[in-house]
Amino acid sequence: MSFKTLGLSEEILKSIEEVGYENPSEIQKQAIPQVLMGRDILGCAQTGTGKTASFMLPLVEILSTGQSKSRMPRSLILAPTRELAMQVSEDFKLFNKYLKLQMALLIGGVSFSEQDSKLAKGVDVLVATPGRLLDHVERGKIILKDVKILVIDEADRMLDMGFIPDIEKITRLLPKIRQTLFFSATLSQEIRHIGENFLINPKEITVSPSSSTAVGIESFLIKTTKKEKLNKLERILNIEKIKNAVIFCNKKIDINKVNTFLKNHKFKTVCLHGDMNQSSRINSLEEFKNGLADILVASDVAARGLDVAGLSHVFNYDVPNNPEDYVHRIGRTGRAGLSGKAFTLYDDGDEKSILMIEKLIKKKINIYNFDNNTNKVQHKQTNITEEKNPEKQDVIKVNKIKTEFPPIENFVNFKESGNIPSFLINK
Ligand code: AMP
Repeated sequence: MSFKTLGLSEEILKSIEEVGYENPSEIQKQAIPQVLMGRDILGCAQTGTGKTASFMLPLVEILSTGQSKSRMPRSLILAPTRELAMQVSEDFKLFNKYLKLQMALLIGGVSFSEQDSKLAKGVDVLVATPGRLLDHVERGKIILKDVKILVIDEADRMLDMGFIPDIEKITRLLPKIRQTLFFSATLSQEIRHIGENFLINPKEITVSPSSSTAVGIESFLIKTTKKEKLNKLERILNIEKIKNAVIFCNKKIDINKVNTFLKNHKFKTVCLHGDMNQSSRINSLEEFKNGLADILVASDVAARGLDVAGLSHVFNYDVPNNPEDYVHRIGRTGRAGLSGKAFTLYDDGDEKSILMIEKLIKKKINIYNFDNNTNKVQHKQTNITEEKNPEKQDVIKVNKIKTEFPPIENFVNFKESGNIPSFLINK
């Protein structure tokens, strides 16, 4: 299936081609036509599935006609962390290349005045973290009555970070008649319940359960002791052909320790964690993304949703406390169909956590052994090639079906009239 069949304009198709996407991913195939028809979406998709473009492409398409007024954004995308909001805004810039839409990014740690002058000029797309958006609302600098499309990204993370009351407050400031796109990596009962408050007759789309790890990732466990940990990490870094890697630590103190140790061993590293100020975070991310550093030592909060093209390796210096964080951490590699490797250092005290991870991902993680004399590595072969690749299967399946959609102009923003076409109800 090609992007051309999804109902996107020539300008947007041209920008997609320049970005280098050849075919839509599963979530894009399913979500884009529905969003263009004005339908609410309850999307269960992890980062790495192409979910950002699945809402961004139809969103810019819908907004490409019409104009924004001063301080009255026409759409709002809420993201849980500054890093994720920044990435979403980068995707917007890619797809807006041949359109003239205006965007403002409202994140903490950046001065209010620049954000404020953008709002005053009028923006079509507002990308924000909930706290900073509410700060602007409280200062009387923004009116949300003109928002036609609301996107809530990573709702499960919003819940973990305690943002749901803020989101409820924000939605009370939005028009009742609007289109809402709600994405989460998991669809627990609690998340569904939260979604119900924001959505009207949503189309539910699930592309990959949160407990599954991407098909192209080979993952291994490395047994160690607390004393040997740094040396084992250095050894594996030297053995593996690393293009770029993220090393996750559970504690800030360990992030600094690992960073200093690796720098002393001539690795080019940068750090990223929640206690750093915004400009240091941005600098670290930029150095890592443009290759000045090839290792990013990071915490979970800082690196969730991090998208670095072709990341070759992920290392867990510590076993994550929460098994779902394991899925998110190793999901930084193996993205968009590429292969990647993930290594987790563990000691005797971690065995229970590893069992919980294996229970969640429904498979055993292979043990990686060092051969002390030769530095050669032995490991049990993974069954990666035997795994089904749902993405590929669906591409084949969908190719056989000629999809036909009614003309988009019949449906775009139909909710403004308050009348939901009957054929969409109960679909
Ligand atoms: P996301 O799930 O939105 O974080 O996207 C994960 C990665 O996949 C990003 O690097 C995107 O640039 C990339 N991506 C998104 N859609 C496609 C596509 N249709 N083809 C190839 N890469 C894509």
